[in-house]
Amino acid sequence: MPRTNDDGFEELCHLVTEHDPDTALCGKDVTGYPWDPPWPRCEACLSVARGEMN
Ligand SMILES: [Zn+2]
Repeated sequence: MPRTNDDGFEELCHLVTEHDPDTALCGKDVTGYPWDPPWPRCEACLSVARGEMN
């Protein structure tokens, strides 16, 4: 399980699109998330990204 930091963010690096930068590919609302944080990549986002690229 990802940790949640003092700002209330799960310490996971979600992926977003230019089309909808406030919603991660996995569906999580990432409004206000840090840009490109040094956290582990969200596996759900990665799997969606892989599927869309095929
Ligand atoms: Zn995600």
